[in-house]
Amino acid sequence: MSSTHASSVGDNLSLPYTWQASQWQRLVQLAADQKMPHALILSGHSGVGKRHFAEAMGYYLLCLSPVNKVPCGRCKGCELNQVGTHPDLFILEPEDGSRVIKIDQVRKLTEFVAKTSQQGGSKIALINPVEALNVNAANALLKSLEEPSGDTVMFLVTQSPTQVIATIRSRCQQMEFGLPSREESLAWLEPLAVGHDPQYLLDSVGGAPLAALQLLEDDTLEHLQSLVDGLLGLAHSRCTALELAAKLHRNEVLPVVEFMMKWLQLGQKKAVIELQQGSHTDAEFELLEVLSSIPSTIMYRFWDKIVIVKRQLLSASNPNKQLLLEELFMDWQALTKRSQKLTQSRQQMMNGLL
Ligand SMILES: [Zn+2]
Repeated sequence: MSSTHASSVGDNLSLPYTWQASQWQRLVQLAADQKMPHALILSGHSGVGKRHFAEAMGYYLLCLSPVNKVPCGRCKGCELNQVGTHPDLFILEPEDGSRVIKIDQVRKLTEFVAKTSQQGGSKIALINPVEALNVNAANALLKSLEEPSGDTVMFLVTQSPTQVIATIRSRCQQMEFGLPSREESLAWLEPLAVGHDPQYLLDSVGGAPLAALQLLEDDTLEHLQSLVDGLLGLAHSRCTALELAAKLHRNEVLPVVEFMMKWLQLGQKKAVIELQQGSHTDAEFELLEVLSSIPSTIMYRFWDKIVIVKRQLLSASNPNKQLLLEELFMDWQALTKRSQKLTQSRQQMMNGLL
């Protein structure tokens, strides 16, 4: 647990990230005192490693003889987990690129929870993300939460605990995962972000280290940079909302929305100083200038809108991403135009006074 990377014991047995040490200690202690809750909601920003933590804790709880509060890597339980075939670990996630966990998948989980454990120890279920359950699937899950058999521990991973239906929430204990400190994130990211500026990556995703690394693993970084150009293009009428949405909706849309949220926050703080700490492009400084000129009252309305869009994207309802983006970009364009008009009329007024 002392490594700066998420290290592993033997092969494929994840350990928690360094910034998750306090949560880890807490659960290890609860397990030692035999007070482990049977269902836990792990919540926090995307890209801080909640799912990773749940899996690592699952491995720990299934290890027959942990050493120094981590899995031993040698027992039968660890061996089965190393090859990914432990019969007492059940991972419930959307299948094949879907965003939704299907009711049939939940039924399999229900069966798993009702059975006795095959290795004689605990049973672990990991549900990620809870938002991927539609109402029927969530109701099917309730049964398992109400009548867990034996020593079952369920980890429910979510970015937005308030979206988890109350009947599920009330049956779970909650554990929060905040953003790690900048130092911790950079220490972890630096050796992995070869050839890139880790500060820039971290800033681009609002400080979540795994999300920063993810930028390098697909073409998201390029995608986000073209978003900055696009937002400026809309503000200066060089392109239309429809064109930009058509260009950006093919990739994951959630990073686009989160990226916009991050820029709105920076704009509200008029955070030029904050930007200088990282390394940023001219276009990004220009975007910040545009954002800083928008009055707060107008900005808040746009913020509410973007929060709703994010919620829709996280829900299991499978919204039309291109339409969502189009609407957002149209609003953005209207917003920047309105603020430009305000600035102009203010200038005219000033000129009139002089
Ligand atoms: Zn072991």
